[in-house]
Amino acid sequence: MSLNKEPAALDVDVAANLAQVNGAIAAAAKAAGRGVDDAALVAVSKTQPATAIEPAIQAGQRIFGENRVQEAQGKWPDLKAAHGDVRLHLIGPLQTNKVRDAVALFDVIETVDRPKLARALAREMEKQDRKLGCFIQVNTGEEPQKAGIMPEETDAFVTLVRDELGLNLRGLMCIPPVEEDCSLHFALLRQIARRNGLSELSMGMSADYEVAIQFGATLVRVGTAIFGARRPL
Ligand SMILES: *Cc1c(COP(=O)(O)O)cnc(C)c1O
Repeated sequence: MSLNKEPAALDVDVAANLAQVNGAIAAAAKAAGRGVDDAALVAVSKTQPATAIEPAIQAGQRIFGENRVQEAQGKWPDLKAAHGDVRLHLIGPLQTNKVRDAVALFDVIETVDRPKLARALAREMEKQDRKLGCFIQVNTGEEPQKAGIMPEETDAFVTLVRDELGLNLRGLMCIPPVEEDCSLHFALLRQIARRNGLSELSMGMSADYEVAIQFGATLVRVGTAIFGARRPL
């Protein structure tokens, strides 16, 4: 059976999960003294078939995240054609040879993390006359195997991306190390964003999005809490 024909898992009520997550987001924002709409939800639909994504769109969700360009190309052109106001965020590493496809399909790139990629994005956006929103991914845990620019290199990289290349830089994004206290990483990301005059922070996943909101997240990226377990590709 092909991935896209697969029905949504029977034991997962996507609409109910979405309502629960949205409620928790609003409660966390309120508890932090923020407005209930100050943190937006990116529903991470990687590995999920279109049949699992449709109920989320029907329930009103409009921002989705995918981590692979090729996988997104398989399911999103049809979904975007059917739902013109849906916005798609790339949240996984981007190779420069996929930049053209990424700029054509996505609305926001959350994983700008090196000069070569930033330059390729700037060229391609110019060529396609599409100005996507961008986030710089910061490797707050300085993990060698993880994507993202090092914290101490971020200020200079912001200058390149925003001021020299003129990309529409909205903010910073991070994925904290799994074994560490996420709040230290969220606080660091916020500190780097503030000193660079950036207002948006993409941080927090299923396990820690409420903590991220406490630390100022404006986008939380939530997958399994909405769609259930990821599926084998
Ligand atoms: C998969 C993924 C998420 C969502 O993770 P969950 O734990 O399923 O909520 C968020 N951000 C990134 C970058 C991801 O790759």
